[in-house]
Amino acid sequence: MTAPERELIDDCVHCGFCLPHCPTYVSWGEEMDSPRGRIDLMRALRAGTTQMTPTVAGHFDKCLGCMACVTACPSGVRYDILIEETRALVEQKYRRGLYDRFHRAMIFALFPYPRRLKALTALLLVYTWTGLRWLLRHTLVKLLPVRLREMEALQPTVTAHNLFGTLPDRVPARGEKRMTVAMIAGCVQRVFNPGVNEATLRVLSAEGCEVLVPRGQGCCGALSMHAGREHESLDFARALMGKFDGADAIVINAAGCGSHLKDYGRLLGTEEAKAFSAKVRDVNEFLAAFPPRAERRPLPLPLRIAMHDACHLQHAQRIVAQPRQLLKAIPGVTLLEIPDGNQCCGSAGIYNLVQPESADQIGQRKVDNLLSTKPDLLASANPGCTLQIQKILRERGQRLPAAHPIEILDASISGTPLP
Ligand code: SF4
Ligand code: SF4
Repeated sequence: MTAPERELIDDCVHCGFCLPHCPTYVSWGEEMDSPRGRIDLMRALRAGTTQMTPTVAGHFDKCLGCMACVTACPSGVRYDILIEETRALVEQKYRRGLYDRFHRAMIFALFPYPRRLKALTALLLVYTWTGLRWLLRHTLVKLLPVRLREMEALQPTVTAHNLFGTLPDRVPARGEKRMTVAMIAGCVQRVFNPGVNEATLRVLSAEGCEVLVPRGQGCCGALSMHAGREHESLDFARALMGKFDGADAIVINAAGCGSHLKDYGRLLGTEEAKAFSAKVRDVNEFLAAFPPRAERRPLPLPLRIAMHDACHLQHAQRIVAQPRQLLKAIPGVTLLEIPDGNQCCGSAGIYNLVQPESADQIGQRKVDNLLSTKPDLLASANPGCTLQIQKILRERGQRLPAAHPIEILDASISGTPLP
């Protein structure tokens, strides 16, 4: 891997329109922690006038990969491709400290593997049920290194359903079949938010889709790619594609995974990968594209719902109107817009696990803005965002239930209670 192509770098005309949209620039006002400054560093790396020093690598590591700069840039600079290639370069050229290497190795030995996440879930159940979690949180937690402390604080509440819940291979369409779709179950989504996949299956079926859930599907590779682990990511992509044949569409309900799946064609360059990517639809996008069939009934209580736009939905996939369209169609729902909604929440893949202080700073702003809308419920289409926002709310002693838009729609269609 070499530094990104000069043409891509030279597309940046230094206008600075992206700066106020960049969460790290908003945090610190540092040029080198803005999109423009990072592109300048890429240019200097390419020209050989700077090397991949700890300081240079640090500026790239602090980038969330949120892509707010991509949607803000009037010159169409492909910062998404630039940072993806640069992250791979960082992993190749920069030797991280021992603790950083260990921490990242632990993350990547765990998160892309649903079976290992299930084993972790079993440990978390023991940890919670025996009271160890309460004990640690009230005693020794402050002694943990900051990254482990953050990991502990982010852990979701798990129940036996997280451990033993399974998905069917196939769900028939209700009524006349409109089409056959395949669902990608995700890794974190499958284990930590099984209700989101279950709601997706119910809604798609109610809307006349036969849904296939291919067995043995693994990680899509998004987490690895966003951390510069290019080869690992592409291996995951090839293995996943092999599991999906014959469906009219491939539906995904996790924003970060969806944007990566749509990029397989560019990343792998094969006809098979291009055909696969062309079929991928975020579940909001998929459902909003055809006339609803299932009746939308009022929820038990009128709800003020604050819509959080995950970066990989709003910036990477440019999906903004669709979840709103679905939620507004539910009788009794009032949809609230979060101020500065184009800003990241600080989750950003593994960002809050490897850059906890910066993630917290950014997350606090998000939660301030969220609470200013006085919502009853948070709608969030990405599991990482939900965990990050819920963690900050917990730390503030506040409680706000959260649900994926598809769970809210499911509650309206099937009457399944909201989480
Ligand atoms: S990335 Fe785009 S918006 Fe930002 S400085 Fe360059 S040209 Fe301007
Ligand atoms: S991806 Fe996000 S954090 Fe990174 S430079 Fe762009 S706006 Fe800033």
